[in-house]
Amino acid sequence: MLYQRSSQLFAEAEKVIPGGVNSPVRAFKGVGGTPIFVKSAKGAYLYDEDGNRLIDYINSWGPMILGHAFQPVVDAVIEKAKKGTSFGMPTELETQIAALAISMVPNIDKIRFVNSGTEACMSAIRLARGFTKRDKIIKFAGCYHGHSDSFLIQAGSGLSTFGIPNSPGVTEGTAKDTLLANFNDIENVRAVFEANKNEIAALIIEPVAGNMGCVPPKENFLSDLRKLCNENNTLLIFDEVMTGFRLAKGGVQELSNVVADIVCFGKVIGGGLPVGAFAARNEIMNYLAPIGPVYQAGTLSGNPLAMAAGLAMLETLNNDAAIFQRLEEKTAYLEKGIRKVLTENKIVFTINRVGSMISVHFDENPVTDFQTAKNGDNETFKKFFHGLLREGIYIAPSAYETWFITDALTYEDLDFTIKAIHKVSKEL
Ligand SMILES: *Cc1c(COP(=O)(O)O)cnc(C)c1O
Repeated sequence: MLYQRSSQLFAEAEKVIPGGVNSPVRAFKGVGGTPIFVKSAKGAYLYDEDGNRLIDYINSWGPMILGHAFQPVVDAVIEKAKKGTSFGMPTELETQIAALAISMVPNIDKIRFVNSGTEACMSAIRLARGFTKRDKIIKFAGCYHGHSDSFLIQAGSGLSTFGIPNSPGVTEGTAKDTLLANFNDIENVRAVFEANKNEIAALIIEPVAGNMGCVPPKENFLSDLRKLCNENNTLLIFDEVMTGFRLAKGGVQELSNVVADIVCFGKVIGGGLPVGAFAARNEIMNYLAPIGPVYQAGTLSGNPLAMAAGLAMLETLNNDAAIFQRLEEKTAYLEKGIRKVLTENKIVFTINRVGSMISVHFDENPVTDFQTAKNGDNETFKKFFHGLLREGIYIAPSAYETWFITDALTYEDLDFTIKAIHKVSKEL
């Protein structure tokens, strides 16, 4: 495949945009080579500026769960746009999507819409701090909650060491309030709680992690976290920006039967437009301005185009009783196929999967946390990525990312992909 025009466009972009991209992972730094510039997309396919067609396994990092340019979403956005694109005033549409989201997700009474997953998590933490009147939070190494300061904290060395910022610009003052724990390690979490008695406002987690590859919680891990949070009067925040409306209608709360205090959304909830949201029971949500003391706002929050797209998406998911089962079956089929061809070609690998989130790690040991996720062979991943690209298949340009399966994929697409992986794995 040729990427001549993408290369030219990237060179032009680099002159006026830092690194040529508006979000770092798009720059292909993890795999080398030139990022592909998209011209359009439909269903399961991307069409790039050089005229290549690619089967898409990223789907805008999750939102396009029903495929690109999904007709009900496109129609809803076009209709709304004709009537004005932003008002900064309330619309009926906002109540409609809020009521629908609340009916789909367990344990939430009210929801507030924002413009990104980052904003959702940032606001959830502020709300938790205001509500509990405490400052510290616990996050897990390898979990991503957007790019706000409190979350850009690298793993410290000891159990209760304060985090050090892993980006210049994040102050030590901010970093010291973020405590790190190891995913799937309940004793470690317990130790962090014990070293910070009565100080922890919230524990935030991706309840099925997706930003270090797909890493499922071990049995009882989430319910044990719930117990620890109860014992310490700490709020449990599920960051379901990735998993919400993807793994089940009600997200991981529904799958695990574990009740979170605050839930964050993004990605699917916006149908491909910039939307995030956070939700909780009344007692907590009523702490927000204008009825409560915790301030949170947004000029474009609840934007009519974004709400129309999100509503069309959630309505489709809500009305299609078989959607999550279909996604599970397609992804299980893909998993089985990949396992077969990688084994036949004697490749060392581990596959993690929950529903329509799947990741392939080039390491023989189980991947259960950030440390084990980092053990994967990155050189093999790079070859795998570029080999698949050559075959017309687009996976995330980083070994730490999950693949997001879309319902638009057909079994022919999946068979084509498995055959391509067979071919590429002979070259690894
Ligand atoms: C993508 C993501 C975010 C950040 O969302 P943005 O819309 O990129 O700001 C937060 N948390 C999780 C779990 C995510 O996957």
